[in-house]
Amino acid sequence: MQDPDKTTGHQISVTSGGQALRQRAEDIAREKMSLSSKKLEAQSPETMWQTLHELHVHQIELEMQNEELRHAQLQLDTARARYFDLYDLAPVGYCTVSEQGLILEANFAASTLLGMVRSNIVGQRFSRFIVKSHQDGFYLYRKQLLASGGQQGCELQMLKGDGTPLWVTLQATAENNADSVSVLRVVMTDVTERRRADDAIRDSEERYRNLFNSMDEGFCVLEKIDGEAGKPLDFRYIEVNPAFMLQSGITDVIGKTIRQILPEEPEDWFITYNRVCTTGIPIRFERSLATQGRVLELYAFRIGGPESRKVAVIFNNITTRRLAEAERELLDQALQDKNADLERATIIADKANRAKSEFLSSMSHELRTPLSAILGFAQLIESGTPPPTPTQKRSIDQILQAGWYLLELINEILDLALVESGKLALVLEPVSLAEVMLECKTMIEPQAHERGIGVTFTELETPYFVKADSTRMKQILINLLSNAIKYNKAGGTVVVKCIATAPGRIRIRVEDTGEGLSPEKVDHLFQPFNRLGQEARAEQGTGIGLVMTKRLVELMDGVMGVESIVGQGSVFWLEMNLTGERHSHSHAVPPLTCAQVKTGAEAPLVTLLYVEDNLANLMLIQELIARHPHMHLLTARDGNSGVEIAQTALPDVILMDIDLPGISGLEVLEILVKNPATANIPVLALSANAIPRDIDKGLESGFFRYITKPIKIDQFMATLDEALAVARAVPDRAASKSDR
Ligand code: MN
Repeated sequence: MQDPDKTTGHQISVTSGGQALRQRAEDIAREKMSLSSKKLEAQSPETMWQTLHELHVHQIELEMQNEELRHAQLQLDTARARYFDLYDLAPVGYCTVSEQGLILEANFAASTLLGMVRSNIVGQRFSRFIVKSHQDGFYLYRKQLLASGGQQGCELQMLKGDGTPLWVTLQATAENNADSVSVLRVVMTDVTERRRADDAIRDSEERYRNLFNSMDEGFCVLEKIDGEAGKPLDFRYIEVNPAFMLQSGITDVIGKTIRQILPEEPEDWFITYNRVCTTGIPIRFERSLATQGRVLELYAFRIGGPESRKVAVIFNNITTRRLAEAERELLDQALQDKNADLERATIIADKANRAKSEFLSSMSHELRTPLSAILGFAQLIESGTPPPTPTQKRSIDQILQAGWYLLELINEILDLALVESGKLALVLEPVSLAEVMLECKTMIEPQAHERGIGVTFTELETPYFVKADSTRMKQILINLLSNAIKYNKAGGTVVVKCIATAPGRIRIRVEDTGEGLSPEKVDHLFQPFNRLGQEARAEQGTGIGLVMTKRLVELMDGVMGVESIVGQGSVFWLEMNLTGERHSHSHAVPPLTCAQVKTGAEAPLVTLLYVEDNLANLMLIQELIARHPHMHLLTARDGNSGVEIAQTALPDVILMDIDLPGISGLEVLEILVKNPATANIPVLALSANAIPRDIDKGLESGFFRYITKPIKIDQFMATLDEALAVARAVPDRAASKSDR
């Protein structure tokens, strides 16, 4: 029936089956053979042929059966191979685990999942691949499986061969195999990615919750309710955060609609939200919530795609901010108004200040003009021939003393006004202390001598230079020296010392031996018009002097002070900044002397021109000049006639008032300087404008000297002589004179 040689032999079960078949076939054959051998001779040839034919058919039958068997074998092989492919390439890990927990089999996906080759997995304990903390859980799971037998799942964390953790879902069944030994068939699915996504979603959810609950802004989600037939459009509150109540002032809204909660609010709320819902374009807007008396700033946006019916709104209560802004606007407006007022006030003040300065300047001029006549004529009488009687002399002295005092008052008030209005211009430059001291000494000596006071200037060991305005520096020192002499005891002394107190600082001390000052008196020392009880004494003074002095020192970055002991004397001191620079402009006018005055018949005839509109002043100078027979005085009452006379008469010296009808003295000078015939004639300004600025301007314009009214006759004559000396020294002037 079968041919053993034709079996492939590699499939044990098939081979053993084949052998049994063959054995049976051989037995049958042998039986038949024995029968045939016994009956062979008795059989007829027909019977023999019949038997042979039967055998042949059997053989063919066997061969056909064999062929079928081989075909079935092949099909089985294919099925088995397919089964193994399925087993290995299944997308889930699969393994068989013994009752004791050993891995008996594992598919390819299981080895991939655990990251190890299959040979290293099979024979290992399954729990070796489970993280420690999940092992107890797995133990219970296994126990339950074996007890119940049904399919059960669990999710636990496993470890790959390299220690990487992964989340796995197990689906297992317990089964008995052929030998009725329990095995677990375990399907493993890697769910790490899903777990990760779940975690991410949970985190995101948590973050959203946190934000939702902790944000300052009110937040709500609204759902659109379509207006049914006849019913208006509305929105329902689905979700609100805790800040919603704080910001809106509305409570208990979930599930209700806006129309239910806020029936009074206008229609545009719904229009706005509907627009956001249909267009998907977010809107930021501001609206007052009349029901709650609040102003809200809102931001509405659609949640989801075009199909969405949800609108989220984030909003803030900005009522306070808006109120504050409104208030600030009002304040701003008020401030602007104030500023405008202030500006107007400043303009008015500036105008007033300018007017004040102009008033002071003109008042000074107006006061000086009559004073000029008083002092001038008094001096004229005092020095006239015949000399005044002793009684007349006493009266004239009183006039002169009062007059000069009045002049001093005017000067001091003018000066102080200038300082107080900030109009005093100082030129700070290196000033030689030695030079200033020498000049002051020269100037103060006659006064000291007159009063019998000894003045000592201690020698300077170093040539100090201070940063100061030289004119004002002299004014300060003269004031202190003058006071020290004035308020000294009879036969007293004044000592001036310079001490370097700190690097770059020098202290100038003026020490007197007067009565001294009590602390109370010192306190009131620097107040104007406070003469500390000196009113009763003969010495005159306004008390402005010290105030002015202190202001000047401070304007030059210095400090001034006083130390005093009652009964012993006072020390007035000032401290100034020293400077390393050495250059020094000496603005000092050469000391005035009367030595050059030459009188007598042999003196050459000189011509003077006086341009002056004020009759009293004109008469004064006329009378003064009349005492000098060699001087001939021409006069003009205005600028233009002054120019005319100057150009025709070519006088030796011109005396010029500044304030004149028509053109001013400055303009006259300008014309004279431009004409070569008159350019070299010395012109003396003779003006009641005593403000330093005016004096400087005059000197800059080219006046030979600037004499302020009232004049001191001696000084005036001395200056005139100087001018005459200069006039004589100019050769072409001398030549033109001799031609005449
Ligand atoms: Mn005048």
